[in-house]
Amino acid sequence: MTAPSFRDLPPVHRIVDHPLLGDCRATLGRQAALRGVREALAEARGRLAAGIEAAIDPASLAGRAAAILRAERPALRPVLNATGILLHTGLGRAPLAAEAVAAVARVASGYCNLEFDLHGGERGRRAEGVADLLRRLTGAEAATVVNNNAGATVLALRALAAGREVVVSRGQLVEIGGSFRLPEVFEVSGARLREVGTTNKTRLSDYADAIGPETAALLRVHASNYQIVGFTEAVPLAEMAALARARGLWAIDDIGSGALAAGMPPGVAGEPTVAEGLAAGADLVLFSGDKLLGGPQCGVLLGSRVAIARVEADPLMRALRVDKMTLAALEATLHLALDADRAGGHIPLWRFLTTPTAMLQARAEVLATTFRDELGLNATAVEDRAFLGGGSLPVEPIPTFVVRVEPPFPAPHASEAAWAGALRRGDPPVVPRVQRGAVLFDLRALTESDDLLLLDAVRRMTHADV
Ligand SMILES: *Cc1c(COP(=O)(O)O)cnc(C)c1O
Repeated sequence: MTAPSFRDLPPVHRIVDHPLLGDCRATLGRQAALRGVREALAEARGRLAAGIEAAIDPASLAGRAAAILRAERPALRPVLNATGILLHTGLGRAPLAAEAVAAVARVASGYCNLEFDLHGGERGRRAEGVADLLRRLTGAEAATVVNNNAGATVLALRALAAGREVVVSRGQLVEIGGSFRLPEVFEVSGARLREVGTTNKTRLSDYADAIGPETAALLRVHASNYQIVGFTEAVPLAEMAALARARGLWAIDDIGSGALAAGMPPGVAGEPTVAEGLAAGADLVLFSGDKLLGGPQCGVLLGSRVAIARVEADPLMRALRVDKMTLAALEATLHLALDADRAGGHIPLWRFLTTPTAMLQARAEVLATTFRDELGLNATAVEDRAFLGGGSLPVEPIPTFVVRVEPPFPAPHASEAAWAGALRRGDPPVVPRVQRGAVLFDLRALTESDDLLLLDAVRRMTHADV
């Protein structure tokens, strides 16, 4: 028997149509499967040319093509967020501005002056650059940054109140995203939680009565993902902070979603801001970098020089510190935020929030028409409600437009859940909103170029050429 030659290679179609590539054809489409096959064939040709043994039967080549395509699909991949939840924690919260991505790439691929003072040639402070921007943006005396806001809360409680009591209203004992539960955060921090008031009503006298020799701080936590309505009473931050000051205690304000000041981002009203918290007299204001600021995951602490110095001196600071990539992305995002006119167009979250609904309607109608005319789907453009998510503005819907697809769904998908599942497993994965009897593609958190990717993905899921 002679060694196989190029002429013995099977034809492309026999490899592409092999059952071993069935999954790839279904999820990635035939074009992608073809590309994998061509790469597998090129590899085999290379081996044959070099006189190296190569398995060239259709099954081996199809298996090799599938492996090549799998390696191109890392576990962590970009996803089209058609859920209408702008800060979807499961989908990575805020997308970064192009400027932030470029800043990350610049510092990540080489060395940088992360903790190095280029003037003096000595060890420098890690968050100096962003602290400076944060001071300019909010008027705070000092600022620092850690891994996330849960970390910032633990650190603040520990640095200012470990072994002592912190007074919190019962109406503010929040749980955020399942893993951030305030009583548990207290346990980790070593500070003791002293609950006052009731779920719906807490008065200044409740705080005052709870203060004793063990008390170190008063804490306000923004009820970011729920609202207590009806017969309610809460203490304004300024009154709580004034009481803290009068008794020589710290006033800490966990605002969560982190609007820096009014109009940042535009169109969001009713969320507490950093500027308000500081103006009301809080010693420390905490927020998440990847919520309303639209930056990277991090926890920002701002406030008085003394409070920030205490926080930075705590050994836990070292465990929670951020890396150069986070700082680069945050610095670039804050630079954009300084220029409100530019920020609205450049920070993706801010752009999503301000896209006129009429524009979304026009885009939804184009997509619905193509879904109907080209793909034969039962699709319409309808007005709906999107949400900020990520624990912000829980009851404040954002007007939006969706492409609503009703049965029949493309074969073999008999139900909305089955079709949505196939879309999630596609490439790029599409995560739509699923309702009884319908799959909805919300355009509020998609860019115009995402519309094309969405159309492509739906096309691949619809054509019977798999
Ligand atoms: C979101 C939120 C947190 C948790 O922030 P992460 O950055 O997700 O850790 C803590 N407190 C409040 C009030 C929040 O809204």
